[in-house]
Amino acid sequence: MTDGNEKKHTDAFFSMDLEDLRKGSGKIDRDIPLDWLGQEMKACEYNAEPTKAHARMSLSAHDQGVLLSGNASVRVKTECGKCLAEIYLDLDCALDGFMMPIGTGQEFEEPDDGLTPQDLKREWYAGDTVVLDELIRDAIMLELPMNPRCSDSCSGIALQALDKSKEEYIDPRLAPLASIKLPKE
Ligand SMILES: [Zn+2]
Repeated sequence: MTDGNEKKHTDAFFSMDLEDLRKGSGKIDRDIPLDWLGQEMKACEYNAEPTKAHARMSLSAHDQGVLLSGNASVRVKTECGKCLAEIYLDLDCALDGFMMPIGTGQEFEEPDDGLTPQDLKREWYAGDTVVLDELIRDAIMLELPMNPRCSDSCSGIALQALDKSKEEYIDPRLAPLASIKLPKE
């Protein structure tokens, strides 16, 4: 399994040739490989396993770069951080940005069609191929909640069960012993 950060163009799942793009075929509508996404989600602080992932994007070539818009819909299996129930999260991840060629030394100017790329996420591409894997991954990771919950009103694991899972749990019958202080040697 290659690391997502070191992936070469030829290994990319989502890439588009600038030449094709200029001819006007800038549509992507397909599944995101779950193996790859699952690996990327290991960076998450809790267990998150994608069970469905699909990307829809349209790209268009402009003088200074490539404008892209679309979204990824992703279903993630995880567990509620409070009660540990298995839950599924449906994420709708915006895939918007303006991709510019790297290393051209070109100052960015506003495109003539009134777009305001300053408002868009700026990304870079090298050579004649726009690679979108990282952008897609980042957009999805950004949508993962910090603390997944089964519901807003989740009251967590029953208190008794929680107490017993704590290391400092003391059998009430032995509680008096815990208060005895032993002399230091
Ligand atoms: Zn819960």
